Amino acid sequence: MFIDTHCHLTDRYTKPEELDTIVNDAKSAGVGTLVCACAEPGDFETAIKITEKYKNVFCTIGVHPEYSEKTDDIILPDHILENSKVIGVGEIGLDYHFGIDNKNAQIELFEQQLTIAKKYKLPVAIHTRDAESDTISILDDSVSGVMHCFTGSWNLAKTMLDRGFFISASGILTFKNSVELRETFAKIPTDRIVIETDSPWCAPVPYRGKPCTPALVVETARVMAEIKNLQIDELETILESNTKKLYPKIVL
Ligand SMILES: [Zn+2]
Repeated sequence: MFIDTHCHLTDRYTKPEELDTIVNDAKSAGVGTLVCACAEPGDFETAIKITEKYKNVFCTIGVHPEYSEKTDDIILPDHILENSKVIGVGEIGLDYHFGIDNKNAQIELFEQQLTIAKKYKLPVAIHTRDAESDTISILDDSVSGVMHCFTGSWNLAKTMLDRGFFISASGILTFKNSVELRETFAKIPTDRIVIETDSPWCAPVPYRGKPCTPALVVETARVMAEIKNLQIDELETILESNTKKLYPKIVL
């Protein structure tokens, strides 16, 4: 089965009454496991409740840089981080796309959450946009994890691969104009790749512009199989093994 390693299923992004259908549709499409990512503290309890309801849904807990000014010191209680369905810290990182006015707050929040990840030995899911050099200088090989929804340069990919990170492809890989991104993924070793939807955003071709759900991760897999010159079921097996290495707490 395929795994959607990063989707947003909490109620601010996905209607709770649609969850049963979303999880079932994913299963029917061959997507057997989902990782629900949090973006702000309001998501934490909801994400955990979702993982309690669905055996095949896991979650990562963290605060996206967009919320850095709205979030005081981040408090992540033991019972959350030690929960068997909480498999990582994320999504966390830096985003300078809309300016650098809150750069210091972003860096502070990012560093706090990295400290938590190290303390609990949890992998991190990194969001980085227009902030490659700060991301490179803050991260090191004392944490493990994934560069989520990767759209960065080969230089960023190479640096993070050297530090042991996995690189995650979203539906953006399938976009007509993502020529350079496909070239970057062609160079990334297949045993260091995972895939995701980042739903409800970034629906892959041929669903671009429509709402995205975890079932559509299969479309990204199809394009990745072409890039890697693999049969889709060969890629599926490799991705399962990669995801287990990335998130050791995941049970497939
Ligand atoms: Zn996300």
